[in-house]
Amino acid sequence: MVGMADYATSGRFGEFGGRYVPETLVPALDELEQEFNRAWQDESFLAEFRRLLHDYVGRPTPLTEAPRLSELTGYQVSIKREDLNHTGAHKINNALGQCLLAKQMGKKRIIAETGAGQHGVATATICAMLDIECVVYMGEEDCERQKLNVFRMKLLGAKVVPVSSGTKTLKDALNEAMRDWVTNVRDTHYVIGTAAGPHPYPYMVREFQSVIGIEAREQYLERHKCLPDVGIACVGGGSNAIGFFHAFVGDSAMKLYGVEAGGLGVETGRHAAPLSAGRPGVLHGSYSYLMQDEDGQIMATESVSAGLDYPGVGAEHSFLKDSGRVEYVAVTDNEALNAFRWLAENEGLIPAFESAHAFGLFQRGLWTPGTRVLVNLSGRGDKDMERASQLLEL
Ligand SMILES: *Cc1c(COP(=O)(O)O)cnc(C)c1O
Repeated sequence: MVGMADYATSGRFGEFGGRYVPETLVPALDELEQEFNRAWQDESFLAEFRRLLHDYVGRPTPLTEAPRLSELTGYQVSIKREDLNHTGAHKINNALGQCLLAKQMGKKRIIAETGAGQHGVATATICAMLDIECVVYMGEEDCERQKLNVFRMKLLGAKVVPVSSGTKTLKDALNEAMRDWVTNVRDTHYVIGTAAGPHPYPYMVREFQSVIGIEAREQYLERHKCLPDVGIACVGGGSNAIGFFHAFVGDSAMKLYGVEAGGLGVETGRHAAPLSAGRPGVLHGSYSYLMQDEDGQIMATESVSAGLDYPGVGAEHSFLKDSGRVEYVAVTDNEALNAFRWLAENEGLIPAFESAHAFGLFQRGLWTPGTRVLVNLSGRGDKDMERASQLLEL
């Protein structure tokens, strides 16, 4: 597969990825790339990363069997429990890795963007623990929708900057964080919260998140003495999915599904599914599939889950789509909400709205009875309770 062997240095996954950034950021990205490559082979950095993943984040996360879901569907379903991480989702794996790296690089200040607030909370948490200044950019609209997470970040000592440009959501927060970084690049590290952005982010974030798939593969093999037939993860920018898939892409017998946010239905145009219904272009420093109109303008997105509500996607997913290794599908708000409710009632697991999209795929009868399915449960639903109580009649 072209580009697979050397992406760590070339910054390309096939034709996707790259670095479409202002000149001032190039030296910073070069430095970041070098420092990451060094740290990722440095036993003392790795030991510290692993120690904190274990003692602070709570890893390894368990693998849970899902007997009721298995009975209902006829498949044999297992769940990787990223919802049990400290702060409630996988985001903290990446925030921890990048903040440790920033500290080692002597950076005095961390900035981050956030949509629903999960990445902002994870980053603010790690910054509190490591005693680094933290500034989080968040769209005004999202600040309003996610007031509790804004409070959480402030309680953790972070400064939250509301962004009032554009649609006042995640992509605007990303633009604003990039602008801050260009100005303050000497003493500041920008912690991007997903496997998107300019090289080395898509590669580095995947590496920090790859612990998900490495653990899941080991746990599954130990318990079942074989690999699953099917793996499923939801895809926003793509960090939990790529971290989960990476350990399995070489297992060619295993079918992998990435689930995007279908919103009101891909055919309505109101969704957040660039891989299912977009075409390649440049956004936030990287060439990848994205939602754009005929003039190349970025389209408005729609999804019940703020964490999937992004018009772009990480470059490696674009490559995995075009190479056919992973199948990307869109699950609608309604399908996700059905799965959300069903999983709570029958397995005692309340997933994040994002993660509920991965479970939404079970309603489609895609596999033969007995198929072994492993789902990545990327986060828990606490943050979505207020919205859920408005949407569901109980
Ligand atoms: C942010 C988030 C996502 C989407 O981000 P990815 O980078 O695609 O993983 C998915 N699930 C949860 C619980 C999240 O908080």
